[in-house]
Amino acid sequence: MDKATTHSDSLTVAKFGGTSVADYTAMSRSAAIVTANPQTKIVLISACSGVTNILVELANGVSDSTTRQQRIQTLTQTHQDVLDQLQHPENVQDAIYGLLDNIATLAEHAASATSAQLTDQIVSHGELLSTHLFSQILVELNAPAVRVDIRPIMRTDDQFGKAIPQPDTIKQLATEQLLPLLDNNIVVSQGFIGSNSQGVTTTLGRGGSDYSAALIAEAVNASTLEIWTDVPGLYTTDPRITSAAKPIKEISFSEASEMANFGAKILHPSTLVPAVRQQIPVFVGSSKAPDQGGTWIRQSVEEAPLFRALALRANQTMVTLTSLNMFHAYGFLAEVFRILAEHKISVDLITTSEVSVSLTLDQTDTGGGAPTLPLQVVEELSQLCVVDVEQGLSLVALIGNQMSDTKGSAKDIFGALEDHNLRMICYGASPHNLCFLINEDEAKDVVRTLHASLLE
Ligand code: ASP
Ligand code: MG
Repeated sequence: MDKATTHSDSLTVAKFGGTSVADYTAMSRSAAIVTANPQTKIVLISACSGVTNILVELANGVSDSTTRQQRIQTLTQTHQDVLDQLQHPENVQDAIYGLLDNIATLAEHAASATSAQLTDQIVSHGELLSTHLFSQILVELNAPAVRVDIRPIMRTDDQFGKAIPQPDTIKQLATEQLLPLLDNNIVVSQGFIGSNSQGVTTTLGRGGSDYSAALIAEAVNASTLEIWTDVPGLYTTDPRITSAAKPIKEISFSEASEMANFGAKILHPSTLVPAVRQQIPVFVGSSKAPDQGGTWIRQSVEEAPLFRALALRANQTMVTLTSLNMFHAYGFLAEVFRILAEHKISVDLITTSEVSVSLTLDQTDTGGGAPTLPLQVVEELSQLCVVDVEQGLSLVALIGNQMSDTKGSAKDIFGALEDHNLRMICYGASPHNLCFLINEDEAKDVVRTLHASLLE
């Protein structure tokens, strides 16, 4: 048996998000989860909670040097607080101070000229910092932790801010560089960051650590992927919207993918893609309450209810394109999508009529913010059609099974919503999802109403 097969029998990849490594206490709790499971050999972590946001702000260019120093001070404090509680801070403090110095220098560059490449370089420091601290905490628990820089393994393309990983290369690099370490070590490494073929740092987009963990789990043929966060798994809807939201014990890959895609913020939308490719069961749980259980996401599950969950995504940008000329209706869609593809604009939802198409724009790059159509794209599209852009909309997605071929399901759904004005309804393309746009200020009410009538 080669190494890969030996490990795959019992190898868990665990990912801890920002709140699970927020400070010494959170890191210690997470480290205890790692040491409690001898199968956990690879641990990927996020930056300490709040750190990436500050790094993004610095990367966007803070010209006032006092403000810049204040931000660096906040970052220093976050990491110093952990250092102060270590038994042997001397093992990692030079590395931490070195990285903080780098941030200060790079933030000064960003104040005079920003770039997507520089942004990735700056924001990658969050994970570079947190992994030093976390591996030291494991070492102090007598665990054989080694910190590995994931960048030479997590190979991506050149799209800074939202780089596309290259799974085949990642598998090869992980086999060479990661697997040999697993016999005697627990590897601690960074989520979210990677590098292109020249070794230049890239990131996978905000919240990308989940995706990183799934890619590494796929690359090493892991038997389980654990995503540790601050909530005990997936819920029928965001419990902050309604206290009637219920935890989901087990859910299929298809349903969970729809949930992640449509705004259930608990998983990065791409996370399940590698897990599905390799059929790796995914566990989502809370590092604050590991004994409370969580959600298992798998290929096949025992129950497939008609209505499973509701997801809500704010900040939607809807673009409606109406053909200028009926003659151009022929090939119109092809032309529209050629232009969008050329500018690497990713579309989420789409509905069409004879001469018009409405679509929503995807929004996950590291810079953050609501998506907009670049001016040049508007100009190119305007040659072809009237371009109308609308914001202030939210997307509500209902996730379930066989919705499009179960009689009466549309009546149940739309009946509950008769007092609301729905925009752009997408129904039928997937048996697992029905979604629509609605004015932002009505969105939470709509979710509560639908939850009460379909899920309670
Ligand atoms: N630290 C990154 C972020 O805040 C990646 C992650 O947490 O998944 O977006
Ligand atoms: Mg995060």
